[in-house]
Amino acid sequence: MASIVIIEDEQRIRELVARFLADRGHDVESTATAMEGLQAVVRVSPELVILDMGLPDLDGSELLKMIRAVSEVPIIVATARSEDRDVIRTLDSGADDYLVKPFSVDQLEARVRAVLRRAGAEGRPGPLKVGDLVVDVAAREARLGGEPLDLSPKEFDLLRFLAERTGEVVSKRELLAEVWRQPYGGSEKTVDVHISWLRKKLGESAAESRYLQTVFGVGVKLVQPEG
Ligand code: CA
Repeated sequence: MASIVIIEDEQRIRELVARFLADRGHDVESTATAMEGLQAVVRVSPELVILDMGLPDLDGSELLKMIRAVSEVPIIVATARSEDRDVIRTLDSGADDYLVKPFSVDQLEARVRAVLRRAGAEGRPGPLKVGDLVVDVAAREARLGGEPLDLSPKEFDLLRFLAERTGEVVSKRELLAEVWRQPYGGSEKTVDVHISWLRKKLGESAAESRYLQTVFGVGVKLVQPEG
């Protein structure tokens, strides 16, 4: 479990996020302004910061630079701006990951887990669990209902990427960039084919999807099946 500082001016979101993370055993400190947030980061030396980009006293991107000047702490920014260029600028200015508002607690948890894992704050990463599906990133193994899944390396990478972002729609373009390392080329057909193979191994089809849900014209997301 990690020590986390939340900097968010909207009381409702701040309390929701703080309670959710505290319930998961994290040591949470939350602040409503940029200045209090910066002080908390310096005082607590947290293992993770969740930073709202729209703060009353200072723009979140300015605060991001100030935190970066004094600390290497992983930072997840929460932003209402979802345009690619804003997100890229945010990541370029030192954020480790981002959440686009409104975000679900599933998305929050997935991002927190992924960032903490990358930062090594949790030691050897625990497996990702979505319903009966378990993705053990460290062991590069996946199981469904306790049974090992026989996945190709790319299928595993695809499943892992989607599992780290459970509940969130990921575009095929993003999958090409992140899983296939082809940010500018590549065919979305490649993604389609791998998703269909993965579906087969998960015992589902596009017509009767359980874990892998296609969002037409947007992308695909991994979800906890209903029922
Ligand atoms: Ca705000």
